[in-house]
Amino acid sequence: MNVEERINELRKKIDEASYEYYVLDNPKLTDYEYDMLMKELINLETSYPEYYSATSPTNKIGGEILDKFEKVTHSVPMMSLGDVFNQEELIDFDKKIKKVAPNATYLCELKIDGLSVSLRYVKGVLELAATRGNGTIGENITHNVKTIKSVPLKLNSAVDVEVRGEIFMPKKALIKLNEEREINGEELFQNCRNAAAGSIRQLDSRVAAKRNLDVFLYYYMGDIPTQEEALLKIKELGFKINPLYRHCQNIEEVLKYINEMGEKRDSLPYDIDGVVIKVNEMNLHDAIGYTVKVPKWAIAYKFPPEEVETKLVEVTYQVGRSGVITPVANFKPVFVQGSMVSKATLHNEDYLREKDLHENDTIIIHKAGDVIPEVVRVVKEKRDPEAKPILMTKFCPCCHMPLERFPGEADYFCMNPKCEDKIINSLIHFASKGAYDIDTLGDKLVALLYKEGFIKDISSIFTLYEHKEELVKLPGLGEKSISKLLDAIENSKTKPLNFLVFGLGIPNVGAKVAKLLCEKFSTMEELRKASYEELSSIDEIGDVIAREVEDFFKRPENNELIDRLIALGLRMDYPKLVIKESYFTGKKVVLTGTLSKMGRTEAKSVLEKLGAKTSESVSKKTDIVIAGSEAGSKLQKAQELGIRVMNEEEFLELIK
Ligand code: NAD
Repeated sequence: MNVEERINELRKKIDEASYEYYVLDNPKLTDYEYDMLMKELINLETSYPEYYSATSPTNKIGGEILDKFEKVTHSVPMMSLGDVFNQEELIDFDKKIKKVAPNATYLCELKIDGLSVSLRYVKGVLELAATRGNGTIGENITHNVKTIKSVPLKLNSAVDVEVRGEIFMPKKALIKLNEEREINGEELFQNCRNAAAGSIRQLDSRVAAKRNLDVFLYYYMGDIPTQEEALLKIKELGFKINPLYRHCQNIEEVLKYINEMGEKRDSLPYDIDGVVIKVNEMNLHDAIGYTVKVPKWAIAYKFPPEEVETKLVEVTYQVGRSGVITPVANFKPVFVQGSMVSKATLHNEDYLREKDLHENDTIIIHKAGDVIPEVVRVVKEKRDPEAKPILMTKFCPCCHMPLERFPGEADYFCMNPKCEDKIINSLIHFASKGAYDIDTLGDKLVALLYKEGFIKDISSIFTLYEHKEELVKLPGLGEKSISKLLDAIENSKTKPLNFLVFGLGIPNVGAKVAKLLCEKFSTMEELRKASYEELSSIDEIGDVIAREVEDFFKRPENNELIDRLIALGLRMDYPKLVIKESYFTGKKVVLTGTLSKMGRTEAKSVLEKLGAKTSESVSKKTDIVIAGSEAGSKLQKAQELGIRVMNEEEFLELIK
């Protein structure tokens, strides 16, 4: 790839990421990944000025204005900030400043990870609150900002004034909000910034009012000699400022402040992503100047992706449905990049050994890809010299049978077919979304029904109705939820064969392989008679899978299970549909909410057969959103983006 192609590729990637971040409040890249792409683009554009473009993301202030809000023109543009990622880059920044303004000093503030807001007061009364938008034009969000308790609706003096700052969601508020969203089956917010942005850009101010947002102000529009005095003035007017700012005389003091704040970061009740360093003397600002996007008299020092220290409590072991044993680090709960975490997988014995964990170790946690908690390393200096190393267990944590590790494999397995955890997990897999997808039969309920003796294998799920009287008496369940569950079980029985084949849990047979098998053998009778040769003749099905499938169907206990399922009326065929063209051909479709007539997995399969491409998230590329009952944020996004929304009835009509 030549330079020009790379520049274009970077511009495209950054534009896409900005859209996901600013418009959808649902970034796919981590901030660090985004910042690194931007840094590479800036470097290339500086070295190859012939590829300059006014529309490059390096010349634009991120953020798009949503049509649903009234537009507001800022009296003075709301700019972004340039950023640096290490000491050397910061020292370079200082050198550039000192060339123009040798006597400059710095005012350092925390860089709050939220979204900027401008507040306009007329005669001391809040008249307008606006987002930054594209820097020149923002969105009117006054109705929502008025619900933030720390924003005074009336100042203590009747002045005309504009102040700016950062709206944010405190860490605790995010934890609470995500807990509620989890219970309601809504998508979780990835971090405090996205939650704040998603909450403030709502049309209904009752939503924002419930979100416990807060604000720190840091910019005063008016004649004032220094940034430090601006902060004091803002405070005097009755606003909240962040108290952790510091006036530094030189860059060494700035570096000291950055280190201190880096250490404080985890314990702060709000998220920060760095430190903002501003030339304190306002009269120097114009001489130092501006680019189209950022002031040259300020810079953001961005912290590396967050790593948090905590204490290991114990290593426990999970038994998967195949009997695979996974060690799990359980540690004192800590807040990492937007959520509270207390567990991280340690994968297998080799990984555990590599981490060299000892009892009560102090460990460092981060989130891989911003999502999955991971143990980065042990702080060996803090280890008790007497602490014993943690070694992989050699016995099943559930049934206590000795484990086996096969030559050349990384994992240990529990080989006991009667191991309770294995059975429960295979039942959980059967009922889960990707597999037989039985609505309302979640992990906890499966475990409860197993432990209470109501289900012991897959077939007994379909005879649960016989125990209705007893089921309604189980803790946390009642007439309504049991009826819903039994209906969902009954409705699930019409699913095409591939869902059952995946649900059976044949080793190495995932959703895709199950479909391939059913496309070749379209009834259970054909499939269970298929020989190794016939199975391995399917493209994409290799020796191992063919062998596993043949072995599975040779076992009498599996055949007996299938006979029982046939007798219980589960569908045992796969429709061989050949559809050349349909309404959905080539369309990108997202399903959201609950469909009453079919599960999500089945609806997805139908759509794919009709030529649609299904996806989990709504973006501007989505063509149709099919919304069942209780559709949440995806439906809202679709409406915001003007995407065609279809209800269940229309959908069923079209697929008839
Ligand atoms: P920025 O967030 O890096 O810096 C500018 C902003 O900092 C200001 O607009 C202001 O809102 C905020 N700020 C917080 N505290 C401040 C203080 N004390 N003083 C002054 N300003 C303060 O720049 P940006 O242009 O708003 O956003 C770009 C950043 O957003 C990227 O660097 C990246 O981290 C993130 N982003 C991420 C993705 C992604 O896909 N993950 C996509 C787009 C942008």
